[in-house]
Amino acid sequence: MKDTECLFCKIVDCEVPSEKVYEDATTYAFKDINPKAKVHVLVVPREHYRNVDELAKADAQLLAHMVEVAQTIADREYDGAYRLIFNTGEEAGQTVFHVHAHVLTGEPLDE
Ligand code: AMP
Ligand code: ZN
Repeated sequence: MKDTECLFCKIVDCEVPSEKVYEDATTYAFKDINPKAKVHVLVVPREHYRNVDELAKADAQLLAHMVEVAQTIADREYDGAYRLIFNTGEEAGQTVFHVHAHVLTGEPLDE
């Protein structure tokens, strides 16, 4: 179900512009507006889930698919190497409450 107030629902629906990197029937990926690495992509399901825990419980296959999409992007950008981050909860730095995987790649990453 869509959340009409959700920024990433609006991005998925093209109501807010984004730089698309990948899309398929269930998943959309776009460049982070404030990149923390040479390549910083956000992978989101088209459907609205609040965080990775909610997604894992509702549709584990879709979560696994998001990992596949991250891998595809990293294969294209940096020989398959990448860091995958799900900030979960405000205290952990989550600011947009539509589950998204940060894919950081394209250069060597600090530990
Ligand atoms: P988080 O802090 O884990 O919730 O991540 C939210 C991410 O969304 C941040 O890295 C922001 O830079 C990014 N972001 C916010 N607004 C946009 C936007 N309009 N287009 C692309 N990325 C965005
Ligand atoms: Zn949403």
